Amino acid sequence: HADIAMYRGKQTGRNNFQFYTPAMNEQALERLRIEGDLRNALDHGEFLLHYQPKVDLASGRVIGSEALIRWQHPQLGMVSPARFIGLAEETGLILPIGAWVLRAACTQCRQWQLGGYADISVSVNLSVGQFLQKDLVSSIADVLEDTGLPPESLELELTESLMMTDVEHAIGILAGLKKLGVRLSIDDFGTGYSSLAYLKRFPIDVLKIDRSFVRDITIDADDAAITASIISLARHLKLRVIAEGVETDEQLDYLRHYGCDEIQGYLFSPPVPADKFEQILRQDRVMT
Ligand code: C2E
Ligand code: MG
Ligand code: MG
Ligand code: MG
Repeated sequence: HADIAMYRGKQTGRNNFQFYTPAMNEQALERLRIEGDLRNALDHGEFLLHYQPKVDLASGRVIGSEALIRWQHPQLGMVSPARFIGLAEETGLILPIGAWVLRAACTQCRQWQLGGYADISVSVNLSVGQFLQKDLVSSIADVLEDTGLPPESLELELTESLMMTDVEHAIGILAGLKKLGVRLSIDDFGTGYSSLAYLKRFPIDVLKIDRSFVRDITIDADDAAITASIISLARHLKLRVIAEGVETDEQLDYLRHYGCDEIQGYLFSPPVPADKFEQILRQDRVMT
């Protein structure tokens, strides 16, 4: 104990006191409260999914959506994933929550397909904890079988860091997922640590250009160059490429000019509840 105390003393310095302000207290309390409430949110049916359309630039049509979780908290109102996904990961709650997301998204997508939109697909974000779950492949197979969703209609969005924690292990999991027939996408592409050499070894189908590059493509030459390069890279590797966070016509023009396949962003639509997404589907040819 003396050692630990000394070590701490050295680290913090003797005049380095910790002050707890009321604001910090409030933050800590909110965190505790959210963590407690998160444990019951699934049982209380407080989660829902919003769907953000993905538009194919060649046809101008909505070809799928990304399912994004929302938490309808009884007192706090709509809580965004930024405020609870991290906590869900730390506490392991991401496993049951992620399983719920997957099943709900596949069920919904299949319903749209049976309702006349046979080619519509859905993307689901996977957390690292889910990715490393022993029975990931079989649990996804079960969901596909139960819901009747064709495997090729499901896309899993994975991050670079998730795949880079243990590359050889990741390649094995990815191969298992590919064998199921689902599509694999690298989300937030360009912000992680993956080396280009691994792109060759990861059996992925889609690169999703991170919003941070897209945001400034019309004002920042570096972001413009990075975006154009990712599109070119994807085309040469025969991968599809989608840009997230497209908000302006200028960004759209740039992406179209460089041959981006799909876009997703507020310019076309924010993430919306399922009934609103259905209205968008009914509009058919939506973007020219
Ligand atoms: P992400 O997967 O990169 O999702 C894209 C985020 O960008 C979404 O935020 C979406 O609402 C937002 N977005 C879309 N278009 C625009 C745009 O034009 N401008 C701007 N400024 N933002 C745009 P959201 O829904 O708050 O989700 C944030 C992150 O939370 C997601 O990032 C994803 O990493 C995570 N997440 C959301 N749902 C799930 C889930 O079901 N499971 C897991 N594991 N993570 C999730
Ligand atoms: Mg995503
Ligand atoms: Mg993303
Ligand atoms: Mg992103």
